[in-house]
Amino acid sequence: MPAEARQRTGAARPKRAGATPDRPLRRRDEPMRERRFAPGDSFRAIVGVVALSLGGVALGAGVYGQWLRGAGAWVGSPYLMVGGAVLLAVYLVFGRDLDRPLRIGELGVGVERDGKTLERLAWCEIEAIGPKGRGLEVRGARTSFTLSLERHGKAAARLVSEAAARVPDRLQLGDALRARIGRPGANDGDVLVAEPPQVVDELCRASERPLTIEKDVRMCARCAALYHKAAVPRRCVVCDAKLKA
Ligand SMILES: [Zn+2]
Repeated sequence: MPAEARQRTGAARPKRAGATPDRPLRRRDEPMRERRFAPGDSFRAIVGVVALSLGGVALGAGVYGQWLRGAGAWVGSPYLMVGGAVLLAVYLVFGRDLDRPLRIGELGVGVERDGKTLERLAWCEIEAIGPKGRGLEVRGARTSFTLSLERHGKAAARLVSEAAARVPDRLQLGDALRARIGRPGANDGDVLVAEPPQVVDELCRASERPLTIEKDVRMCARCAALYHKAAVPRRCVVCDAKLKA
């Protein structure tokens, strides 16, 4: 093979450190993988749980002593009730679990808002990933969320590594922060098959055709941009991955 042709072949198949599967275009109804990261414990979360437990006991004992016990009100009851209320206030300030479990994978980044709601930003929908407070903010047009480096250190490392391979221009992190976040562990997070995502209200990125029929939807494997199967461009309009020969 002439050197020039070899070079062309090499250029057409960029190696991307395993972050994206071999096939550049996926059917939307095939199984997609992602990793689930539960938040780790933090001093703040522990303070919250202790405050909730002690506050509940103190408030309950205070109410009992003041009104429910048969032999008249106990003199210490108001103090117990006030103390219990203060501890519950501490829980509300410190302990509420602001860091939700996260999903990171082929479909993008997802936050489990509660047991049923999973809010996702596809890689192509992320506008910026940058520092915010003591964590990272993932910003998109539809939604944004922040993850703390203290409780979601492993998820942050996975997020930054995948984003660097898929949508590098959205990463707005200095070298020092990148070094602090570090590289992801191969076994971090629980590998899951993602629930099939909704395609209602989505439009083809190239033709703006509505994507109402799941089997007609194709997805860029690198950035998760969606296309109608009849309008797949040669290169992804978002990440420039080569989609067709
Ligand atoms: Zn793409």
